[in-house]
Amino acid sequence: MPKNNTKGKNAFHFFMLDWKRKQEKCGKVFKNGLKDVATDPQCSEDWKNLTPHLKGEYMAKAKESKVLPQRISSKQTTIGENIEEILLQQKREEQFQQNMIQYINAIIAIGTQHKNLEKLKFIFIHVNKFYRREIGINKFDFCPAEFAIGEFSLEDGMTNIYHEIISSKIPLGWKRDALETSSETHKIPINMSGGQNDFAYMYERVVNILKSNMTGIKFPPLFTVRDVVPVVKSLLSRMTEATNTSMDDFVVYTLETLFGELRNAATQHVDDISIPLVVAENEFKKDVFASTRGLECDYHKNIEDSSQYCSMSIIKRWCFTICDYCCEYMNIPMIQGVHYPVSEKCSNSTILESLGNLTINDSVNVVSMTGVTEEHRLKVSGRTYTEEQRRRNLSQPVNIIDHSKTYSLNNSIIPGRPLRPPKTTAQAVIKVDDTSIENNYTINILKDMDFPALGGRGISLAKNKMPIKVPLGKGRGKC
Ligand SMILES: [Zn+2]
Repeated sequence: MPKNNTKGKNAFHFFMLDWKRKQEKCGKVFKNGLKDVATDPQCSEDWKNLTPHLKGEYMAKAKESKVLPQRISSKQTTIGENIEEILLQQKREEQFQQNMIQYINAIIAIGTQHKNLEKLKFIFIHVNKFYRREIGINKFDFCPAEFAIGEFSLEDGMTNIYHEIISSKIPLGWKRDALETSSETHKIPINMSGGQNDFAYMYERVVNILKSNMTGIKFPPLFTVRDVVPVVKSLLSRMTEATNTSMDDFVVYTLETLFGELRNAATQHVDDISIPLVVAENEFKKDVFASTRGLECDYHKNIEDSSQYCSMSIIKRWCFTICDYCCEYMNIPMIQGVHYPVSEKCSNSTILESLGNLTINDSVNVVSMTGVTEEHRLKVSGRTYTEEQRRRNLSQPVNIIDHSKTYSLNNSIIPGRPLRPPKTTAQAVIKVDDTSIENNYTINILKDMDFPALGGRGISLAKNKMPIKVPLGKGRGKC
């Protein structure tokens, strides 16, 4: 670690940036950005071992930095964060959390008062990402890959869903991250053909849903799970940039909090059932419907092992989870497909029905055992029109020989090698017979050698006092 002074910290900050860049080129990943670099023992070791000349260069860099004069007066963390700014940010976040809880409680209180809690609509949104890019200290930009937004109410479940697969332009240097995230989770290819890339159009569609649920002059808040909040903000930021509108129009709240408050409101007339928000959040994270199939979008229906990551499936599962925990206590009749997933039996019949309707032409979107769609195979290795024409011109007509007809026409011709005629002597025996004319012992010897006695009454080879003659030897008297 650098010496405990502001100048040293700034120099170390510049060193960390360079060090991080070098390590990332070698394939190292820092999920928490400079925080991970600051706690990496190797980085501290490399800083210690830096030559005085190089260290001097970093010190000079820190001195020249325009931000240095502003920061000298304030305290900083080891990764160059302004402590005052961090404290201010923390205060803002606490205030934001309080506002969120107040808003949710107020809405639920109105619903309870007017006995129409089950009719209240909330907007759910989920966004899948391709990669996360650091754009400042603890600030990240997420490249969107897919999103789904819909209206939720305890009475009607998830309705009015708008879903898009986004064809985002991946900048150079981020393709590897995008491919890795894709293969590990949603399996959406980068620059997918047919994907939506018009953020102004998507903005209009999203705003239409929000407008239909406005109660005042502001858009209603969007609800998503805590981890996805920054990803949703990145998507909204792209949409507002494309339409020259303000991000301040949108508020993103955490769905876990809404779930906890709704659950406690639903069970308020039942003793000892209300649960603390932390417990509610943990229950929600369990995602009890994660293995449910048939909730995904058209794209994910055909991609193996990816439906649980589909944004459309996720917002529907959120709906089922909340209904599962609340409807029972509010006497809301549970309807299959609205408040809980369609049963496995029905799913099977749906699968059989869709298989029945399947034709050969449907193979375009079907994924083979190698995980490749027919559409992709044709795109990558399919023949062009010219290639196909050339292949057809060069092709020879197939010559079919029907041997059954040949035989019937020419009875004398029998295909294949003829068998040895029956009742004749084998060639090997004929040769042995020839040898026996020259040497009378040979046959006996061969018989004894080939078929020795097994200890019974037969004559053993040892008892045969006849001299053994090797069939192929010169023989006695022939020297
Ligand atoms: Zn999907």
